[in-house]
Amino acid sequence: MQTVKLKPGREKSLLRRHPWIFSGAIDPCSSGLENLQGGDTVDVFDSKGNFLARGAYSPQSQIRIRIWTWGFEEQIDEAYFRQRLGCAITSRRAFNDRRGSNAYRLFYGESDGLPGLIIDVYGEYLVIQLTASGVERWRETLADLLIELTGIENIYERSDVEVRKLEGLALRTGVMRGAQPPDIINITEYGLEFLVDIQRGQKTGFYLDQKANRKRVRELTQGCEVLDCFSYTGGFTLSGLIGGAVRVTAIESSPEALNLARRNLKLNNLSENNVEWIEGDVFQQLRRFRDQGKVFDLIVLDPPKFAATSSQISNAARGYKDINLLAFKLLRKDGILATFSCSGSVDEDLFQKIVAGAALDAGIEAQILERLHQGPDHPVALNFPEGAYLKGLVIRLAG
Ligand code: SAH
Repeated sequence: MQTVKLKPGREKSLLRRHPWIFSGAIDPCSSGLENLQGGDTVDVFDSKGNFLARGAYSPQSQIRIRIWTWGFEEQIDEAYFRQRLGCAITSRRAFNDRRGSNAYRLFYGESDGLPGLIIDVYGEYLVIQLTASGVERWRETLADLLIELTGIENIYERSDVEVRKLEGLALRTGVMRGAQPPDIINITEYGLEFLVDIQRGQKTGFYLDQKANRKRVRELTQGCEVLDCFSYTGGFTLSGLIGGAVRVTAIESSPEALNLARRNLKLNNLSENNVEWIEGDVFQQLRRFRDQGKVFDLIVLDPPKFAATSSQISNAARGYKDINLLAFKLLRKDGILATFSCSGSVDEDLFQKIVAGAALDAGIEAQILERLHQGPDHPVALNFPEGAYLKGLVIRLAG
């Protein structure tokens, strides 16, 4: 087994069981480093020679090693991956993520114990995304095990995320096992049906992380005029309508997403008369509504990730403040704002501060009624707080 030694004092995060080792922590005198290939299994020792962990090496990435195990006895082989996948499958069963929906996240990377592995279930299709050299090396084993453990025969790969480039991995999409998926797959979510394009859609096709929050918002929309900003394929729009909204206005910049949103409406026998689809930019459209003096009872803000890295936090904060301020101005008294951020580097505290700043500038008073998060199929391992990225606030404007 190839071994890697850490510089003195650089074992601290590993002792807390954080699963990443950055390049700067590695003693460059560790022998044989130059011969290591992406995905090779290495044993990690502290500067005094004590075993710390076993992980996958990635020569090009700043995250040079991702940990598989802290157990010296545990070998990295098929049985190891079988055990980790099995745990995740059991956890989804225990939390009943399948209740009301045949689409959910089956495996969530570091939080489920295999760094870089994402697996989403869409009915009879699995979508796999590999974002690190370690899981890339074990790709075939993972596919075989997935079929065996889930009984689902079709696996489509969506390894088309930019972070792969940081690992020196090319982007890749396509059928990995089983049948070519149809252009559009039909999923259910708490009584609603949605069309999902797992081959070309955003993320792996659908924003599964918002499932519980769409259900929650649905419970608040009875009799409301709703504004759904960043509506994608209509998740919150349809949830609002089924919850009894009298009218929903949806704003989305992607014509492909809006096209599916329209089809989703029809599929669920909901009337076009109660919906206005606006293809455009939310920032501009909210200003237009403000100038027109338009108001709503409930507004959803579910923007894309404004900050991909911590260097983008201040720009992201401006973006969040901008849309939240505008939304506050467009709300009726007693109105509700459901506002989200999926930027991992903007934590809950900061997000609340940004929204509070927006309320202050809008000259309104408001209170937080509820805090929302990603669903239980996107768990957060206690040793990997970075796994928490989606946060939401349900805010009520004072009357
Ligand atoms: N609420 C959706 C997910 C939203 S994801 C759901 O529950 O399914 C964010 C969406 O915002 C994406 O569909 C993206 O195309 C869209 N988007 C990104 N920037 C935008 C902008 N400036 N104006 C309008 N839509 C935008």
